[in-house]
Amino acid sequence: MALLATSENIKTLVDGLNFAEKVERSLRLIREAYEEYGDRLVVANSLGKDSCAVWDLAKRVSPQIGGFIVTTRYKPRETIEFMKHAVARYPELKVYKNDIEIPDRLYETDPDRCCDILKVEPTRRAISEMNVGCWVTGLRCTEGRTRTDFQEVEERDKGLVKLNPILIWHEREVWQYLALFKVPANPLYAAGYRSLGCATCTKIANGPDERAGRWIGTSKCGGECGIHTRPLKSESRDDR
Ligand code: SF4
Repeated sequence: MALLATSENIKTLVDGLNFAEKVERSLRLIREAYEEYGDRLVVANSLGKDSCAVWDLAKRVSPQIGGFIVTTRYKPRETIEFMKHAVARYPELKVYKNDIEIPDRLYETDPDRCCDILKVEPTRRAISEMNVGCWVTGLRCTEGRTRTDFQEVEERDKGLVKLNPILIWHEREVWQYLALFKVPANPLYAAGYRSLGCATCTKIANGPDERAGRWIGTSKCGGECGIHTRPLKSESRDDR
């Protein structure tokens, strides 16, 4: 991809481009990747606002683009309902879940392990089963302390390119996009949530950090479930 070799400074682009320029850039990134990867380009749709924007952008590039959703036994009822609507509208969205037995309240005693089992494992399975060469995410570098060190196009796992087409968007611009293009969002946002995850680990939080309501009271507070930080290709895993 031409943009893989970009030397542009991501932090400069965050406030250097206006909304329309960012939308155009995101579409161009997805288009270029789709031209290169075809059906092996797959959107990871978490059903959050950022994923909804990325999914809509991808569909503008090509209605043929597919995706996957990783869900867990602890997702809020509203998110499950929202997922059912999304899958009914887009059957090309495949749902992955890990139903293995785990200790009670593992999310309290060892949330990293809980996320690894319930979120990272099904993501690995999706990437393997769907033969993904390029996965597209809704990650944004303005979203929180753990998200400042990403690039629009990355290859953290050998042979698996990760495309972050809205990396430089502000939270406001995501809402701007969803409103302007009439893209539905999870109703939990109307209740005050700014970042969505499992019901057990997500609270409504105020303040500048968009992810502050995630894993409150644990070492993971405001952090990551692991799909953006852990190896996702079986040959590059460090926990075999
Ligand atoms: S968000 Fe919480 S409940 Fe969900 S997988 Fe991670 S630790 Fe477990």
